[in-house]
Amino acid sequence: EQRRELARHRGPGSTKDGHPVKLLLNIGGAGGLEEAAAADAEGIGLFRTEFLFLDRAEAPSLDEQRAAYGKVFAAFPGRPVVVRTLDAGADKPVPFANDDVEPNPALGVRGYRVGRRNPGLLDVQLEAISLAAREHETDVRVMAPMVATAAEAREFAARVRHFGIARAGVMIEVPAAALRAEAILAEVDFVSIGTNDLAQYTFAADRLLGELNDLLDPWQPALLDLVSMVAEAGRKSAKPVGICGEAAGDPLLAPVLTGLGVTSLSMSAPAVPAVRAALRRQTFDDCAAVAAAAIAAPDAAAARAAAS
Ligand code: PEP
Ligand code: MG
Repeated sequence: EQRRELARHRGPGSTKDGHPVKLLLNIGGAGGLEEAAAADAEGIGLFRTEFLFLDRAEAPSLDEQRAAYGKVFAAFPGRPVVVRTLDAGADKPVPFANDDVEPNPALGVRGYRVGRRNPGLLDVQLEAISLAAREHETDVRVMAPMVATAAEAREFAARVRHFGIARAGVMIEVPAAALRAEAILAEVDFVSIGTNDLAQYTFAADRLLGELNDLLDPWQPALLDLVSMVAEAGRKSAKPVGICGEAAGDPLLAPVLTGLGVTSLSMSAPAVPAVRAALRRQTFDDCAAVAAAAIAAPDAAAARAAAS
């Protein structure tokens, strides 16, 4: 019965009354590409590129990167692809990009900060993405991880455009960026909330420590507050606000995130059918009501219960 319900819905994500919510895919390399391409999703919302950089002594060449990105683009003809630039550091250490002596790697030179320190590394990546996109006629967008300020967003967008890539965005993973989302959106074309890191930095709780999972819970009302602020900034700016952390693939949370105003949810391919079905069961007003109830809850368990 449940499987039949999941199979019944196809096509673009939307609520019961037709409010659109783009359902996108998270991918990380050539593995799982076939399954992702077969998924009924509107495009790729997060293409993690770390796989190309991990476990090696130096950065991959322009040609190697161009070929690797091209392989992914070729698998998604006609669908938009959001490529995330190298997110080196902390839980994804890259020896030639990160210092191994930082006392607090999660708070160190990681993500976009690596590109700030080493512009050549980022420029080669942007050129490779641009060349591969042209080769495969891909509607490519590029976003930076771990951006904290509007100035960083401006600098990143200028570098992206220098390489002829039309759309630049940033991830919202640092509370400072969520608090100033409107100023950041003034510099870029879209933002995507990385709830995994946003939870880590909001609760000062290492995402690698299972012992802190209660704090890292995406149902924490303080995290929902930040999502709500970013979505509101998106509404004011008339620009897309997506979610690409694990939270986006939770069918119970998806209507809450929709009710808060996010415009796309990016998740692993197997998560898509259940999220699509969950959205189709509720009108946008229903989503807004569960979002209001969750955000008013005193804690994560009560927020989850309010939406169940
Ligand atoms: C996130 O932080 O939520 C995210 C999507 O990026 P990653 O998990 O790769 O850090
Ligand atoms: Mg992250």
